[in-house]
Amino acid sequence: MCPYYAERFGNASSIHHYGQETRAAVESARESVAKLLGCRPAEVVFTSGGTEADNLAIFGLVCPGDHVISSTIEHHAVLNSCKHLQERGVEATYIPVDGRCLIDPDDVRRALRTNTKLVTIMMANNETGVVQPVEEIGKICAEADVYFHTDAVQAASKIPIRVKEIGCDLLSISGHKMHAPQGVGALYVRKGTVLEPLFYGGSHERSRRAGTENVPGIVGLGKAAELAMKAFENGEDRAMASLRDRLEHAILDKVESAGVNGTGAPRVPNTTNIYFDYIEGEALVITLDLKGLSVSTGAACSSGAIEPSHVLTAMGLRPDRARASLRFSLGKQNTADDVDFATQLVPPSVERLRELSPLYNKTAVNS
Ligand code: PLP
Repeated sequence: MCPYYAERFGNASSIHHYGQETRAAVESARESVAKLLGCRPAEVVFTSGGTEADNLAIFGLVCPGDHVISSTIEHHAVLNSCKHLQERGVEATYIPVDGRCLIDPDDVRRALRTNTKLVTIMMANNETGVVQPVEEIGKICAEADVYFHTDAVQAASKIPIRVKEIGCDLLSISGHKMHAPQGVGALYVRKGTVLEPLFYGGSHERSRRAGTENVPGIVGLGKAAELAMKAFENGEDRAMASLRDRLEHAILDKVESAGVNGTGAPRVPNTTNIYFDYIEGEALVITLDLKGLSVSTGAACSSGAIEPSHVLTAMGLRPDRARASLRFSLGKQNTADDVDFATQLVPPSVERLRELSPLYNKTAVNS
């Protein structure tokens, strides 16, 4: 990426040689992203990230009077887009999930209406890592002649993606979830799918996304896609899954009243979401962060109160268990030593917080 910040700064739309140099870099990145997704380069539209890709797919297709089908566990980039459309006269159905965080494709079939324009259901959930049955959903959409968009932001580079096998018309990815920089992403748009653009301006990206391209970001995304393909060939996804499993088993061996959210469902290899009853997840995040371990909760702070994750509550978790859940995500740089560091740190930290919890003491006394 570095030369495209400092030396090769031509505008990719210019016909002079500086411009042609960056145009070549953008097109080569487009080819790499197309290989990662199994599509044609012309079907890749670069965006500013996953949020924009999701918005372009949804607002680009759905109009007042249409019906859209989504799910209760989508990222807010999709959920809030659908909610906003509802204020504009669009009808929406949100498909529920079971206790494993899985959608039943038959629920999608049953939700179809004559005015259904789009089904937008994510490929992998960002909190639990659970992978949805997108191929079955794709078939249902194709049979019903309804557009299918899938948010694959958490799936890209973690599991192989073949848009033809999924049968989707639109698929979103984001750079920073695959070791590319923040602020870049892409939307796969199946040939022949006509989208209303989000922005009006120049005819960049075949008039689907106006604005001068973020060349360094795009170059980074292309390189990340290329490295992700190599990583699949080398079996790095399987190695990551076994590190994740080692982390889970070691923590669950040492901590009682804890468990994996989404267990029993197919998951991307880098994510585990674990509940630790009787603690506040936010307190554990801060405790672990101070000791050098960065993890997260899916909880959101709204009006000063911590709201439990909408994903975990949609799976049927009690609010206190949802608030006591943490997401651990592995990256390509993580090693077995990192996992051991985490497994040494987490159990005593949970124990310490539980000692401070009146709820835990009461339970211990009662039992
Ligand atoms: N969709 C999912 C599933 C995500 O996890 C995220 C980001 O975390 C997004 C969309 C939004 O992507 P971006 O941050 O690139 O806008």
